[in-house]
Amino acid sequence: MTAALIDGKAVALELRSRVAQSAADFRGRTGRSPGLAVVLVGEHPPSAAYVRMKIKATLEAGMESFEHRVPAETSQDDLIALVDQLNADPAVDGILVQLPLPKHVDESAILLRVDPAKDVDGFNPVNAGRLATGMEALVPCTPLGCLLLLQQQIGDLSGLDAIVLGRSNIVGKPMAQLLIGANCTVTVAHSRTRNLPEAVRRADIIVAAVGRPEMVRGDWIKPGATVIDVGQERVPQPDGSLKLLGDVAFDEALEVAGAITPVPGGVGPMTIACLLRNTVVAASRRAGLPDPESL
Ligand code: NAP
Repeated sequence: MTAALIDGKAVALELRSRVAQSAADFRGRTGRSPGLAVVLVGEHPPSAAYVRMKIKATLEAGMESFEHRVPAETSQDDLIALVDQLNADPAVDGILVQLPLPKHVDESAILLRVDPAKDVDGFNPVNAGRLATGMEALVPCTPLGCLLLLQQQIGDLSGLDAIVLGRSNIVGKPMAQLLIGANCTVTVAHSRTRNLPEAVRRADIIVAAVGRPEMVRGDWIKPGATVIDVGQERVPQPDGSLKLLGDVAFDEALEVAGAITPVPGGVGPMTIACLLRNTVVAASRRAGLPDPESL
């Protein structure tokens, strides 16, 4: 068997064009564009690159972008003051504080401070709790992107056995909540899970988010399963270059799985598309408008 490739790039492009249409509709109804504020603390190069991509995508969707770059030494109090200023700014619908933050800043204190209505990353515990209890929430972008890819590939997920590898607050846990919400039977595995290959072999859906390159081998995968590979680690190659690898041994999985996301070009592009989607949704809710139907 050769698995079908799940083209995250194409799905993300299509979502981004629907987001742009919804942003234009919002502008037509309110006289202003949805606005996303991005806070970058320090010069961490991968974070700076992510922020550049997010700003570019925001502008391409016809939305307002507010960029706040502050030095790595910025105090926690000053960062909280910046978040408060963005919380109070009516032109700002979404606030994204790029992680990781410098060591002297308590990340959870900053995430708690972001107004839940503007929390387009879905990291505030209020949104995590709303998601867990089945209420309307802003949902973390990466797991939301994974769910959209699964639904696009499979359709109705009801009754399927899903395993999520990883239990982080930003990927694993919200992914499990989304799959429960989609009526899957969900196992959440982590570093203490016993006999992981056997647990993975039972699953119709595998979402791997561990950050261990090629940990999931072909013989862990049930024939025909759908595999979503969230992992993206830069691994040094013999020639000195760096190669982006997922958590799944792709060539092996290709022989067994029914469908699989490539790395790169799978989950990654969906994360940014979902950030834009969340910004338009947050803007609509803040303006008292219904969520855009196409999103
Ligand atoms: P994280 O916070 O480091 O969490 C990793 C999780 O994997 C933990 O729950 C850990 O278990 C579990 N784990 C580690 N080693 C394991 C093993 N040998 N067997 C089973 N479970 C194991 O990572 P994260 O932030 O969730 O990110 C995971 C991966 O996704 C990374 O490669 C990251 O770069 C990638 N990512 C990609 C995107 C994207 O847009 N494509 C977005 C976010 C993250 P314990 O809890 O027991 O320690």
